[in-house]
Amino acid sequence: MDESALPVEGSWTRFAVIRGDPVLGGVVLVVAGVGLAIATGLGLLPWPVLGVALVCGAVGLGLVRWSRATYRRLLADVVRRHADVDPGSSPVPWVDDDLWRERNAFDPELDGPVLLQAEIDPALRPFGRDATGAFTDPVLRPVSEVELLAARTGTLVADQAAPRPMLPDRIAPALAETPGRFLVVAPRWPVCCERPATLLTLRLDQRHADALVLGPEPDAPVDPAVHGQLGFQCRGCGRRYATDPAW
Ligand SMILES: [Zn+2]
Repeated sequence: MDESALPVEGSWTRFAVIRGDPVLGGVVLVVAGVGLAIATGLGLLPWPVLGVALVCGAVGLGLVRWSRATYRRLLADVVRRHADVDPGSSPVPWVDDDLWRERNAFDPELDGPVLLQAEIDPALRPFGRDATGAFTDPVLRPVSEVELLAARTGTLVADQAAPRPMLPDRIAPALAETPGRFLVVAPRWPVCCERPATLLTLRLDQRHADALVLGPEPDAPVDPAVHGQLGFQCRGCGRRYATDPAW
């Protein structure tokens, strides 16, 4: 069947298809048809019932196929409407714009089905780019004088905002309120120039290989493979750091 030729569904049909009701109904019909056919074959029911069994099975299979085709069409429609939506620039200066766009881009495979399910249950929606709590229990990691001298300075992107200097006890709550589709538990967050550094990446690659890896404490031993997963830059002075989730 040509899926594009399917009729436009009303809201009830749409809800039923998203919820999977026609599939369930179709399966019940098929099972009933098989049951009737077996009972007829065993001689428990008269032969004409076999016709009813065949109709049940055929209608049930048709219902399942129609429902699945309609669901795929609804999904394709949702994906088409959301695929080009630009996440915009980062709403907080301690998350880089490129990282923000990368992490908040629409994912057809993950987001399409969730958006459809949210039409019948709005509670399924919260993990959007507006939901706060992207960084759970951030752990501040002030940069020491020795580390300041050791860190390399990178180019600062001129058109991106720098976090303002903040009181130490204000930084962690501000980080914890960060919105976005991240989920980093207990990120160790460099504090340099009296402000939180800006997160550039959630997985270090060659572009961030020259960042100074900060261990748990200024004098603690550092293993770059363990402690260098998150890449930062201080937008006050341009220094680059790498840290890890604290556990
Ligand atoms: Zn700095």
